[in-house]
Amino acid sequence: MLSKKNSSSEHESGFVSLRDLNKSFGDIHAVANLNLDVAQGEFFSMLGPSGSGKTTVLRLIAGFETATTGSITIDGEDVTDSAPFDRTVNTVFQDYALFPHMSIQENVEYGLRAKKVSKPDRSQLASEAIESVKLSHLAERKPHQLSGGQRQRIALARALVMRPKVLLLDEPLGALDKQLREEMQSELKRIQRQSGITFIFVTHDQDEAMRMSDRIAVFNMGKIEQLGTPQQVYETPDTAFVAGFLGSSNLLEGEKAYALFGVSELVNIRPERVTLSGAGSSDDKSHRSVPAVVKDVSYIGSSTMYVVESEGGVRLTSLRLNQELPADFVDFAPGDKVVARWQKSHVAAIPNK
Ligand code: ATP
Repeated sequence: MLSKKNSSSEHESGFVSLRDLNKSFGDIHAVANLNLDVAQGEFFSMLGPSGSGKTTVLRLIAGFETATTGSITIDGEDVTDSAPFDRTVNTVFQDYALFPHMSIQENVEYGLRAKKVSKPDRSQLASEAIESVKLSHLAERKPHQLSGGQRQRIALARALVMRPKVLLLDEPLGALDKQLREEMQSELKRIQRQSGITFIFVTHDQDEAMRMSDRIAVFNMGKIEQLGTPQQVYETPDTAFVAGFLGSSNLLEGEKAYALFGVSELVNIRPERVTLSGAGSSDDKSHRSVPAVVKDVSYIGSSTMYVVESEGGVRLTSLRLNQELPADFVDFAPGDKVVARWQKSHVAAIPNK
């Protein structure tokens, strides 16, 4: 098993390296001058809205697309012009792409057969791969006799059995319902840790990327807006786009920012860091308290979201987790006067718009 590598110095020379990579489709510049290093054994996610270029980057690494300019190396080998089957990578797609007429065992053995692995060896390797996704008891079934989640696991086993240096995953959980999706997120993470294979995962789901990844590249319009650990991109977003794309935010600048935070530059505070109380809170060395009026309340199960407006007319969103509420708890309603309070150190400057 390969060891995990997380410190930034170890990312300097990537196991997968993209250099000045560009891909145009006619007038569309899908990938714009991209430089990226993914470390060996890393769970790396490319996160971004639809059309931001993440699938194109994955397809360039897989060899399904040819770069307009730039280079791609995998484990030190330049694969920019190599055919997909000459690259030591495998791809798992959202639609599984299993052969319907073959059993699960045969599906998983298929790639090994093409590589001329002997019958006993491929039978054993496939059994181990199916075991690693915990579906040994279903090995003789056909794909249509499996649930969506089970099919996704088999698609994964089929890729893992080839022992790729890099596994590329394109929204592999996109077709699953929420509960199964969350189960599979833990499962994928476990399999990645166990196998030590470098995973490059494409998703537009921020929770999914945060939950599983060692590092995340946030894509926007063919470029990486920010690259960092889940904590880095959430806590210290570099741009307004990243702040808005990962979770909810209170982005303010100019007079509005000055009124609440004493600075005019673009700043952000996360809604869960803004607390509301009935009255009585006041400023201290590390906290700021501002009188406000509740404008909107949305109950969202595990939490409640409030929109409040300060006396100066600045709107803020506050998020409260619905836990351990006192027995005499009375919720706020629109029109109530409250005090919005936050720790000054939780107001983060956004360096770029
Ligand atoms: P999604 O999450 O919707 O898959 P994405 O971030 O993966 O989006 P890409 O699929 O990489 O984005 O697409 C990036 C841009 O390139 C888009 O504007 C898309 O329309 C365009 N594009 C992708 N593939 C092609 C193609 N084969 N021909 C023309 N344009 C393409």
